[in-house]
Amino acid sequence: MRISDDRYNRDRIRFDLALRFIRHEARTHTIRIWTGLTDDRIRKLYRSYFPANGGVARRRGKSPQLASFFLRTPRMRHETAVLASMCYLYGVMPQERVADAPRRMPCAQRGEALCGAYETYRRLVPTSRISLEHAIYLVTSLARGDELRPSHCADCWGLIVVDRFAVSGRRCRNCENWRHGKLLRR
Ligand SMILES: [Zn+2]
Repeated sequence: MRISDDRYNRDRIRFDLALRFIRHEARTHTIRIWTGLTDDRIRKLYRSYFPANGGVARRRGKSPQLASFFLRTPRMRHETAVLASMCYLYGVMPQERVADAPRRMPCAQRGEALCGAYETYRRLVPTSRISLEHAIYLVTSLARGDELRPSHCADCWGLIVVDRFAVSGRRCRNCENWRHGKLLRR
């Protein structure tokens, strides 16, 4: 009885997680590696819960893979910093660097934390252009540390995301704006 209860609970967690991923328009491949469900079960979930897709886009093909996406404008750098902060607060990020992060990070428990972080982020930044697929790229890239890395604003010590070649002393958008305004008033 206990074994079937445990199995039921495990399945329930994986199904609930898959539904959250589907709502955030994650790709089937992504859902499979984070939940451990087969493609066939994911397809059945789509059909059962989103007949005629119910406004949920189903994406195919490759996941986004571009570190520069996160740093290209001050607004994107700010949104990336907010999302990364949520991921650290929700315990999505590992304690140490993970060289093979795309393979070693996905699991249902971390997936739940990731959805929690992403959903809170979307409430804070409702007009965000960062998808859940991008969020996954961001957390694995930060965990690897070979393209993007976490850093601190030189003024307020808030979390910012920089590329691995960035010199220290960078500032967050708010501190940058504040300094700029102060210089203009002189
Ligand atoms: Zn700052």
